[in-house]
Amino acid sequence: MDACLDLTGQTIEVIVGAKKHVPFTIHENVICASSQFFKKAMSGEWSEAKSRSVRLADEDPDVFHIYTQWLYHDTFPVRVDKPGVEGNAEYLLLAKAYVLGDMLQDGNFKDAILDAMVEKTESKLSNDTTLFPVGPVIRHIYDNTMESSEARRLLVDLYTEHGRGDWLRKRASREDLPKEFLYDLVVAVLDKRYWRYPTRAPVPDPCAYHQHKADNSICYKNRLAQKPRKRQRT
Ligand SMILES: [Zn+2]
Repeated sequence: MDACLDLTGQTIEVIVGAKKHVPFTIHENVICASSQFFKKAMSGEWSEAKSRSVRLADEDPDVFHIYTQWLYHDTFPVRVDKPGVEGNAEYLLLAKAYVLGDMLQDGNFKDAILDAMVEKTESKLSNDTTLFPVGPVIRHIYDNTMESSEARRLLVDLYTEHGRGDWLRKRASREDLPKEFLYDLVVAVLDKRYWRYPTRAPVPDPCAYHQHKADNSICYKNRLAQKPRKRQRT
C-alpha cells in the first residue's frame, strides 16, 4: 500500500468469483498504483476501461478480500493462533493471496504476504508452540508459481533452517509434497551441510549395513579371517 493513499478520482467495480459473483468497489487510483494488472486493464485499450468493471471469474472472493484489506488498511484480516489444521489454513489463505498477487502483478503485496508468513512462523500459538507451513501450503505454492518464485525459496529456506523430519513424516501427506519441492529442499540441505562441515565426515562402519545386525562377531569378514583364504585365479 502506498504511504499516502490517493482516494481522489473514480471507483471501479471488480466482480470476483465463479459461482458467487461478489462485487468490490475500489478506487481506480489506489488499485492501479499497486497492481500492474489493473493498471493495464484500465489503461484505455481494454473494454474494462470503458465499462469501469473488471471480472475476475477464476479468483476466490475471500482471497480478493485480503487484497482489498491490504490495499486500504495495510493489514491482513486474518490472525489465527490456533495450532494444527486451523493455523495451517491461515497459511494456505496467505499462499492463495500470494498467488493472487502474482496474477495482479503487485510486488508490494507479494512482499507483504511473505513477511506475514515469516511473522507467523515466529509468533507463539495458544499452546505455546510455533507453526510452520506444511503440506497443502507447499502444494499450493508449487502448483501455482514459477520456478524462480520467491515464495518457493522462502518455503525451502524455512525447511532447510528450521525443519525436522517429523514435518514430512507426520504433518504432511505425501501427495502434498511436490517432487520439485523435495528436490529443492534436498539440494539446499546438502549444500548447507557441505558448507557448514566441508571436511569429509568419517566413512560409516560397514557393519552397520550388514545382515548380522548388532553382533559384529558373526560378521562374514571375521569368518574369512579365521580360515586361510585360497587364492583363486579368474
Ligand atoms: Zn559386519
